[in-house]
Amino acid sequence: MALTWLAHTDLAAISRGRAIPDYDPEGSQSVGWVPADLALDPFGGLVDNPWGPVGDLRLVPDPATLVHIPGTPTASEMNFVLCTATDLEGKPWRSCPRAALLSQAAQLEKDFGLRLFAAFEQEFSHVTDAAPPAPFSLEAARVVEPLLEDIFSALDEAGVEPENILPEFGQHQFEVTTRPAVGVGAADRAVITRTVVREIARRKGQRVTFAPVIGPGAGTNGVHIHFSLLDRQGRPVTHDPGGDHGLSRAAQQFTAGIVAHLPALTALTAPTVASYLRLRPHSWSAAYVVFGNQNREAAVRVAPRSRVDGDHDHERANLEYRPSDATANPYLALAGILIAGMDGLERELPCPESVEFDPSVLSEAELKERGIARLPQSLGEALDCLERDSVIAEALDSDLLECYLTMKRNEVATFAGVDEAELIAKYVDAY
Ligand code: GLU
Ligand code: MG
Repeated sequence: MALTWLAHTDLAAISRGRAIPDYDPEGSQSVGWVPADLALDPFGGLVDNPWGPVGDLRLVPDPATLVHIPGTPTASEMNFVLCTATDLEGKPWRSCPRAALLSQAAQLEKDFGLRLFAAFEQEFSHVTDAAPPAPFSLEAARVVEPLLEDIFSALDEAGVEPENILPEFGQHQFEVTTRPAVGVGAADRAVITRTVVREIARRKGQRVTFAPVIGPGAGTNGVHIHFSLLDRQGRPVTHDPGGDHGLSRAAQQFTAGIVAHLPALTALTAPTVASYLRLRPHSWSAAYVVFGNQNREAAVRVAPRSRVDGDHDHERANLEYRPSDATANPYLALAGILIAGMDGLERELPCPESVEFDPSVLSEAELKERGIARLPQSLGEALDCLERDSVIAEALDSDLLECYLTMKRNEVATFAGVDEAELIAKYVDAY
């Protein structure tokens, strides 16, 4: 019998749910869910939460996200559909991360006539003891075949429009990109991509991990979030040839809002103890509160506009948010980016000053003189920034925020004094 999983992605960025037979995308099936499920941490524990044993929810599938991966002689078919948690009347539950993103995206359209068009560029590692082939090499791709080929085909079938798959710089590290989608669709694609990559590897008896750090020399796995703005009619409005860095006023303001709230945003986009082993200077991840044009050490950068295949500046102009990884819930990450961006639009902030070099080459005194601050250097520090940032904290549901802070502070306490190798291994297993 073919089962379909109704899945909900929680604060630990883990998709959990339950399966039903005979799912009908045209129908109105939903399954029961419990508020406290949101308080499950990445390691199987349940943290203190505002709901306890009380309350009931429904997981309501969005049929547009239905994924079918055909079975093989050794694996059953895999069917899943992504859900929003609702109350028993079907009204979105305010603490559901997907509901939070739907609500922020609706706000952007209502208040500013804009839509967020985004894509997640995700890195992952193949867990193996084999000798690592050369970075970016054809050899590195071929030794794992047909892994990449099968991942790409499955993503294509899943409708997430995969664009690229490649061996990255780190040992046994790969990256996969998909075409952008509007609002919640972008976060859905991120979840679908991770789920499909893991499934295809599992079918081959192989292990992959999206954990931000894997071990010495293995490079770090980032999840870069590309974003641009569309108007209500779906027309791109990010580019302006006469604007700073080729950006329209709206794109400048939106970006400035993100840069202004970066310290708090990292708590949503780099939300585990391991995330801060990645956000170190000089590793192309992002360690400073810096905006840059085509600068891979910047936390937010203007992605390059190529004219090799003609002038597509208008459609392709986009920015890239880099201090994020796969331990972040993609819905919360985008909701945070939207809240920050809307604050920039609301306050009509000027385009941030661009830094066109690696800030880590400057001395402490020079950094101070130029007003360049480090991003939070630990999860604890980032959570304090989130709690203090009234714009972000107040725009999130208070129960969601309370549960999030408790879970993440619990994680900080759990790993206090734990050996780095042991900590890394835990996250490699969990993600
Ligand atoms: N692996 C780097 C990171 O952790 C990113 C490398 C790149 O794609 O620019 O973010
Ligand atoms: Mg990369």
